[in-house]
Amino acid sequence: MKLALPRLGNIEVINNTILTDMGHELVEAPPNSKRTMDLGVKYSPEYCCLPLKIALGNMIEAIDLGAEGLIMAGGWGPCRFGYYAQVQRDVLLDLGYNFRMLIFELPRKEGIRTLWKNINILRNGKSWLYMVKQLRFAWQQILLTEELENKVLQVRPREKKKGAASRILLKSIREIKQAKDINTLEQIRKETMEKFAEATNPHMQNLIRVALVGEFYVSLEPFVNHHLEEKLGYLGVEVVRKNSIEAWIAPIMKLHIFKESFKEEKDIEQAAYQYLAHSVGGEGQTSVGNVVLAHQEGLDGAIQVVPFTCMPEIVAETILKKVSEDLDFPTLTLTYDEQTGEEGLNTRIEAFIDLLKMRRKRVNVS
Ligand code: SF4
Repeated sequence: MKLALPRLGNIEVINNTILTDMGHELVEAPPNSKRTMDLGVKYSPEYCCLPLKIALGNMIEAIDLGAEGLIMAGGWGPCRFGYYAQVQRDVLLDLGYNFRMLIFELPRKEGIRTLWKNINILRNGKSWLYMVKQLRFAWQQILLTEELENKVLQVRPREKKKGAASRILLKSIREIKQAKDINTLEQIRKETMEKFAEATNPHMQNLIRVALVGEFYVSLEPFVNHHLEEKLGYLGVEVVRKNSIEAWIAPIMKLHIFKESFKEEKDIEQAAYQYLAHSVGGEGQTSVGNVVLAHQEGLDGAIQVVPFTCMPEIVAETILKKVSEDLDFPTLTLTYDEQTGEEGLNTRIEAFIDLLKMRRKRVNVS
């Protein structure tokens, strides 16, 4: 079957492992672009949130390139992610597309049969053992990708030559995508870390450090957040990314092997508890907890990214005002929609970083 996945950061690293190696034909949606956004916005219901619209744009582009099946994650409330896949499927059917939507989500009673069917389509006649092996390897590819993405956030503000860190990462991502075994991944990891070390100016210490919190998709997809991590890095800021695919998937799967991620989830909930004692869907509670933790970790401030109309992040934004006041910890909320302009965004980011630098100076003088 010709299958496609919507884009999300560097998630493409697993495409070969879970699709091509399973005997499917891979159709890669083109990288997110203005066209992707325009298609998604044009055909989505207006009330839908930005990530749904962009993923819909990905799907249209993939089907136009020949995809017969689309793989999509699902969920169960309380935020709108729970019905993303169903809305996207209905919109695409209304547009006259002929395709199959393979939704992977933790099933409730009636969903078990559908999930079973979708798993078997993905398995494509291969043995269960082989499939488990591929999924485990895909997981390792994701972990390494995120480790390098986090490392690049430390290297970028210290790089000797502008752009070097991003170029090193890009090359490594391509290699991770082609890798077939753990030894190769380990080799990529070792070589990339060496290149990062060579590219780093070791004398650049005590940089401003900022936590990046907020909605999962917007924080991890550079096209949507207007390359926020790069912008900050080139302003000399070390970004501490608080969201990750690992932390998103592990608790959903509730699997014992992810117990480290469970611990982190618990710590975040505990940190948020005083301000927001229960989940409000999406990353709402996580954003609050992560800002409290960022303060405890001695970071200089936090930036929250919010897709326009995202209920969980709007709740968090309101609460973060109080958190920021109580802890004397600066936060900046950036709201994104299809109209977001580059200039206004840059001005706000630069003003926030100037504020953090001034606070640092004040602390150093006193
Ligand atoms: S977290 Fe916000 S943007 Fe993401 S799906 Fe839920 S409501 Fe939409």
